Formats: sequence, C-alpha cells, structure tokens
Amino acid sequence: MYLKTYPHTLELKYTFTLSHSSRKTTDIVIVELEHNGVIGYGEASLPPYYPETQASVIDFINRIPLIQDYDIIDPEIIIQSVHLLTDRDYAAKAAFDNAIWDWYGKTIGLPLYALWNLDIATIPPTSFTIAIDEPDVVRKRAADAHTFSRLKIKLGSKKDKEIVCAIRDVSELPLYVDVNQGWNDKYFALDMIGWLKEQNVVLVEQPLPVGLLDESVWLFERSPLPVIADESVHGIHDIDRIQGAFHGINIKLMKSGGLSMARGMISYAKKKQMKIMVGCMTESSCAISAASHLSPLADWVDLDGSLLVANDPFTGSALSDGKIMPRQIPGTGATLKYDFGN
Ligand code: MG
Repeated sequence: MYLKTYPHTLELKYTFTLSHSSRKTTDIVIVELEHNGVIGYGEASLPPYYPETQASVIDFINRIPLIQDYDIIDPEIIIQSVHLLTDRDYAAKAAFDNAIWDWYGKTIGLPLYALWNLDIATIPPTSFTIAIDEPDVVRKRAADAHTFSRLKIKLGSKKDKEIVCAIRDVSELPLYVDVNQGWNDKYFALDMIGWLKEQNVVLVEQPLPVGLLDESVWLFERSPLPVIADESVHGIHDIDRIQGAFHGINIKLMKSGGLSMARGMISYAKKKQMKIMVGCMTESSCAISAASHLSPLADWVDLDGSLLVANDPFTGSALSDGKIMPRQIPGTGATLKYDFGN
C-alpha cells in the first residue's frame, strides 16, 4: 500500500465573492491510495476561511500509519482509527476517507450508492450558485444558467434586494439564499425572509453569525421559510447544540471529515426531524463525485462546486437533467484526467 499527496490549485471561472471574502482560486490536495494494485482518489478542499492548508493536509496524511497489514474488510474501522489521530484536520480526513471508499468500491466492483443501497432515481436537482456581484453581472449569470432548475444566490451585501430583483428580471427558478452569516440583526433577518418568501425563495442558509445562537432560535420560531445551518454545523457533535435553532443542516465532506461521518450525521439529523442539504466547497470532480453518492439521502442538493472550476483535474459525476448524477461504475466514479507526476 502507498499514500501519495498532490497539492493543486483550482482556478475558478468567476471571482467568488461571499458576504465575508472574495477569491479566484482554491487550494486542494489530492490523495492517492494504492493497495493490491487498485488506486482510490480523495480530495481535501481548502477555502481560506478555514484553518487547514496544503501543508497541514500533507502533514496529516503522512502521519497515517501505512495499513498494508490491515485487512480492509470494513473501511469504517480504518477511518475511525484515522479520526482519532487528531481532533481537527477535517478536510484531510475527508480526503483519506474519500480515497479509501473509492478504493473499496473499486475493489468489490460497486459504485458507492449501490454499496449503500441507495436509489439514485431519488436524487434531487442541484442548485447552481451565483456569488455576490454587481446586479448586471448577477442578471447575466442567472440568464446563462438555463440548464439548472434551482439557483443558489449569495446575499449579505448592501445590495441584497437589488440582486434578487435582478435575478427575477430574467429567471423564475426557485431560489436558495445563502447569507453566510451576513445579517447581524434578527429583526432585519425576519423582515428579509418574509420578503424573500414572496420572491419564490425556498430556503435561507445561515442568515445570522454563528455566535448568535439565541437570536437564531428566535428566528427559527418565526421564520416563514426553512432556515438551514452551514457555518453553525461541522460534525455530528454540533447537531444537538443547534437543534431548535435551524430546520436543517448543510452537510459538506470537508466539514464533517468525509463520507463516513457525513452518513452518520445524516441519519442522526433525520432522527431529530431535521432536513438535509448535501453541499460542497469549491471542489474538483473528485470530491463532488464522492458527495453525489449521498444525494439520494438529501432534501436539497448543492453540488455545483466543480462546475465553477476552470481546471478540474477529474471527470466524474456530471450534470444530467439538472441533477449531479453519479457514474454507474465502481467507487466514487471520479477518473483522473492527467498524471500529476511525482
Ligand atoms: Mg453556505
């Protein structure tokens, strides 16, 4: 067995502006796991507002004991032991978890959705994300997004209503709104959500800052639209704390630490009657393909990350009839387009 790491930088098709930051690139690390002649791939995506870096991911992967002595009968057992190495490094753990599940699926000859008895016919459509920009630019992006049946717009700037009106000039598609903690006042947030409901908005993600939990409970009790936690929920340990403050959670591999943890979160959140969004960072088709195998379990899907990337090193789960559909081949279905070399 070997584990190799390849740092890479994803170039974004458009400048990606959120309520708190703006960027043109996202660093990733690809992990390659080989065992018995079969190779699995995984990815850590590293947006700059989270503490992990390419160096910290490579350092973490190098700390994983080489496991040629393990019989890989159940990937969960190895993944659990890797999670115990540190209490952070979630993207690095996600990359390893992603690689071992890809390897395992390829070894036993099943796509992950089939391994987990999930029905891909139930996958909801993905939203397509339009970042904060001038209303004219947003209007054009919305007009160009005709292959999608849902749009996700980023709000939390001074132009929120202008942006929504610009989209409504050219598109009647249902909207998901992501505020990225950009509103600081619960009364303002409630007024805005009331107005957004009239604009055929379906849900609002993370309207208030993570620290305003009491205000989030107040908003949850009054909001006419479902309010979804993103920055307020990372792993399964966060769910009890935010129950009663959000109607649902946005689960991302890079926050949860990978597919195994995400699956645990989904079943726990469902027991708590919370809705599930399967989301992503800007990621290549490596991690997006992995996440797409969880989509049958989701109420909403936001897996457009690789569609915003200009230099995706993988092909994999692809847009079909507005949905990101897993390929019907073993593993995650992600295939490397070129040799990273070493
Ligand atoms: Mg979000």
